[in-house]
Amino acid sequence: DDTVADLDAVARELDRAHVFHSWSAQSQASPLVIASGRGCRVWDHAGREYLDFSSQLVNVNIGHQHPAVVSAIREQAELLTTVAPATVNLARGEAAERIVARAPEGFRRVFFTNGGADANENAIRMARLHTGRDKILSTYRSYHGNTGAAIVSTGDWRRVPNEFARGHVHFFGPYLYRSEFWATTPEQEAERALHHLRRVIEAEGPTSIAAVLLETVPGTAGILVPPPGYLAGVRELCDRHGILLILDEVMAGFGRTGRWFAFDGYDVRPDLITFAKGVNSGYVPVGGVIIDEPIAQTFDDRVFPGGLTYSGHPLAMASIVAALDAMESEGIVDNARAIGETEIGPALADLADRHAVIGEVRGEGVFWAVELVADRETREPLPAAAVGRIKAALVERGLLPFVQDNRIHVVPPCVVTAEEVAEAMAIYDEVLSTALEGES
Ligand code: PLP
Repeated sequence: DDTVADLDAVARELDRAHVFHSWSAQSQASPLVIASGRGCRVWDHAGREYLDFSSQLVNVNIGHQHPAVVSAIREQAELLTTVAPATVNLARGEAAERIVARAPEGFRRVFFTNGGADANENAIRMARLHTGRDKILSTYRSYHGNTGAAIVSTGDWRRVPNEFARGHVHFFGPYLYRSEFWATTPEQEAERALHHLRRVIEAEGPTSIAAVLLETVPGTAGILVPPPGYLAGVRELCDRHGILLILDEVMAGFGRTGRWFAFDGYDVRPDLITFAKGVNSGYVPVGGVIIDEPIAQTFDDRVFPGGLTYSGHPLAMASIVAALDAMESEGIVDNARAIGETEIGPALADLADRHAVIGEVRGEGVFWAVELVADRETREPLPAAAVGRIKAALVERGLLPFVQDNRIHVVPPCVVTAEEVAEAMAIYDEVLSTALEGES
């Protein structure tokens, strides 16, 4: 049909003429047109279908266009689309109640933000005001968002051109496959990474450190599932020195790992939890900080110097309530856990057996990384040009991949079915067999 095909061309033209894109040189950006979606699939205007194994930016946990969430947004829009944060709004209270119900005992209050970056921004602010200390320690292999303190807490390359906030120190977290500590077992990696952190804390001056900020499972940096004992060890170091622990659950939280929070799988209790993405699958932009009572109480009689026009926006709140209720009643978090154990994990292990280009597979739930290497022995990352060819071939065959550095992140919505996993695996398999032909 000419008119719908034209819409793709019109969308592309308008985009090229007027839209400025994130993290890219504008002349090189060539994004796909996506016009509609349902579950794990999206379409352009002409009806070309893609199986979404990226969940966009690893945020559409409940799948595209979940009818209950769409209806809740519509109903809220008809009642009240926007309201100031300094009002009482029923949807806001209900959203906060549902969020704290999943947090550890003692967490009672939520500060709502517009997304994940400002969630970390405000958690850092709370930690500094609560402790009266300045420094924030975070890892080099991390992404915490694109605002003042969040981007400087970030470890990856995006920090470097943006380093205009003070009081940030970085360290290395555990990553056994590319160990900074010459470790060969998970136990060694945990022990040595903890030794390194202890020395960084001592050298920085423990009484100058407000918080350690960590992604529970570093996501964009490579889905680096922490080795046993590491997070508990970090908690212990924090406790020894009166340092707060902020766990960034923006990507790992709300079902991605097959648990409500990724930290539910570890012996660790944070002081502040930041979230966004999966809480409402990004249907309306939102994030927030879940605050443990001792920190919340700091601001009982003292003004909290922070706020946002859209804090607790009714459309976002209604979508959180509906998304969390649907995730609960439809067993969506359980599905993420089970499909990871019985389908994705085994299928990726099988791919790794058959393709020498796969150096390591790691993950859980619907949160997996496939590390592509030029050489299994040296673990040298597959060069960017070859990774680019793989990415293009996946899209060509109708799979939307999440590709970061030399890795494919296999991160479908939590509602993904065994059939969809099989379909995706056949595409990965074919592409890994053919896209590198002619290269040695
Ligand atoms: N923290 C983590 C772990 C993330 O993965 C992201 C986004 O990818 C952020 C924070 C920033 O969230 P937002 O892009 O909503 O500001």
